[in-house]
Amino acid sequence: MKKFSHKSNRKLTAVKVVYWALLTYMIAALVWWFIALVKQNDTLVAVQLQQITGTNNQANMPKQTVAQLLNMQSRKRVQYIAEGLTFLALILVGAVYVYRATRRQIRASVQQQNFMMAVTHELKTPIAVTQLNLETLQKRKLDLAQQDKMIASTLREANRLNMLCDNILLASQLDGKAYQEARTEINFSDLVEGCIDTFKQHYPTRLVTEAIEPTLYFDGETLLLQMLVNNLLENAHKYAPQDTQIKVVLAQQGKHIKLEVMDSGKGIPDNEKLKIFEKFYRIGSEATRNTKGTGLGLYLCKKIAENHNANIFVTDSKPQGSNFVVTFNS
Ligand code: ADP
Repeated sequence: MKKFSHKSNRKLTAVKVVYWALLTYMIAALVWWFIALVKQNDTLVAVQLQQITGTNNQANMPKQTVAQLLNMQSRKRVQYIAEGLTFLALILVGAVYVYRATRRQIRASVQQQNFMMAVTHELKTPIAVTQLNLETLQKRKLDLAQQDKMIASTLREANRLNMLCDNILLASQLDGKAYQEARTEINFSDLVEGCIDTFKQHYPTRLVTEAIEPTLYFDGETLLLQMLVNNLLENAHKYAPQDTQIKVVLAQQGKHIKLEVMDSGKGIPDNEKLKIFEKFYRIGSEATRNTKGTGLGLYLCKKIAENHNANIFVTDSKPQGSNFVVTFNS
């Protein structure tokens, strides 16, 4: 991981050095050409004046010719300044465009590589845990309580693997516009209750309280909406301490149906509140992060919300933590 970030930093520095060197050279060349042209213009006028009179003394020349030549000299100078400034403006616009595009590209490629590392890790861990658990169950005679614990941990890992695969598949389908829509009228209250029940089965020790208004309906897609709710619940579980409570509220608010998933974790700094919905975005650097993840969950939540004409955003929970809010049109 360290190797990668050093490598990408070196690449970024090299790109920056080449970029600034080229830009400085172009601007210096432009200034140099401007000065050379102005000088050449001055020399040309001086030579012409000399040719007309055969002397360097302007006082002896016909006044009209001198005025004409001086006029031409200053017009040329204005022309060089205008052309120079236009060229400079074009160089600067191009430079800003290239800088932004390159920065975006490098950021995207860094995030993509972080994602690949995270996915590899995310795939390997559940497989390794599942394998170890099954081998232990096969080789050792464990008592019932120990067996139950091991089976529960294996199921949790299988669930994580399943969710990861669903997320990756769905992200590529939604990105490639290959997702086949199947909308029906949905009892969203039942759907949310169902997700919470499954969540409680996976994490029996986690305290979850819910206030779900019954029979709230709208047109939507069951599978996508389940993924949205599951991702928010999983994140609340992942990013808040084990002994804290997760709260889910679903209620009609005027024309909207509002879903809130609140936790009492560290919360999300204001400057990250929009970025976390970007693809592969994870707060902090890959090396300092200690939670598992791919940075796909909230990107999918946003896509799914958009797909349902809903809004998704995050605010702060009181006294601390995050509150993810999704508002649907009923
Ligand atoms: P992942 O959890 O796989 O990293 P997500 O897209 O679900 O990806 O989340 C993006 C980032 O947003 C996470 O890496 C985490 O830093 C932050 N985040 C998401 N949910 C929460 C939460 N409930 N509390 C604090 N931070 C969160």
